[in-house]
Amino acid sequence: SEPVLSVRDLTVEFRTRRGSLTALDGISLQISKGEVLGVVGESGAGKSVTGAAVIGLLAGGGRITGGEIRLSGLRIDNLPERQMRPIRGKRIGMVFQDPSVSLDPLLTIGDQLTETIRVHLNVDAAGARRRAVELLEETGIANAEQRLSSYPHEFSGGMRQRVVIALALAGEPELVIADEPTTALDVSVQAQILELLRKLCRERRTALLLITHDMGVIARMADRVAVMYAGRVVEVGPVDEVVRRPRHPYARGLMAAIPPLTHRPERLVQIPGSMPRLSAIPVGCAFHPRCEASFGPCERSRPSLRRDGPVDVACHLFDADAAR
Ligand code: SF4
Ligand code: MG
Repeated sequence: SEPVLSVRDLTVEFRTRRGSLTALDGISLQISKGEVLGVVGESGAGKSVTGAAVIGLLAGGGRITGGEIRLSGLRIDNLPERQMRPIRGKRIGMVFQDPSVSLDPLLTIGDQLTETIRVHLNVDAAGARRRAVELLEETGIANAEQRLSSYPHEFSGGMRQRVVIALALAGEPELVIADEPTTALDVSVQAQILELLRKLCRERRTALLLITHDMGVIARMADRVAVMYAGRVVEVGPVDEVVRRPRHPYARGLMAAIPPLTHRPERLVQIPGSMPRLSAIPVGCAFHPRCEASFGPCERSRPSLRRDGPVDVACHLFDADAAR
């Protein structure tokens, strides 16, 4: 059946005084009903830009200059804002790293939830209130009825993020985009919040686009994973496969950097070097200055995604035609 989200050859550019910078360079992604797609990479890889492009909220002069985005078949990348606004929140729910982006400190949890429910669903005030209580209960908040009159600051960080998840699901969306949903939280509550998000999306068959820098989160949460580097997808496939045998040297580096669950080591194995700035993306394979496996063609030619077993990988090591 038709994917819930289909991104094809998406290119996003940012206009600056010194010219235009390519933040996304022809990326393609698909998510089916009830599926969790993890998008992983270091800061600057283009993960958040991808999420922002899907919800039509590119900031700072960013614009889509190529490709298309479809939500259950409907093209949404070229919709005027007045048509996009009702889709945001209703058909696409959002969970951001910082709960204060989604929660108004001056409104009670109950007002925010019932308001969101009434905007998106055709229910009266009493029905919205009932639904708000149910949603809070589903997100694991005790004494939900009484909690409606609490303000965000009266909640812990973990509880606030539970409310944000309730808000994201209030419109019964077909897709949820979660951008580093637990990065700001205590390590001890991160796993609970992630589990909750996955469980609630699974039960509703809601597609989840999970954006994170943490390959450990991907390994626990995702069905499929897309590894991004310098505005491109460099490896995409079933999570078990990518975790067990990452093919792209960058994906291997991310796997090696997963902290163990049991303790925080002094130092993680890090990938040497850093993500290039958008104004200085290396020619050929953008990863070549950091890649230990770099060889002949890597500095000259850009590898495209090719099938290797159940995954697609953009690396000359997996390209039989590349000169060795
Ligand atoms: Fe490394 Fe070359 Fe593969 Fe790029 S194409 S990841 S430089 S081996
Ligand atoms: Mg980000």
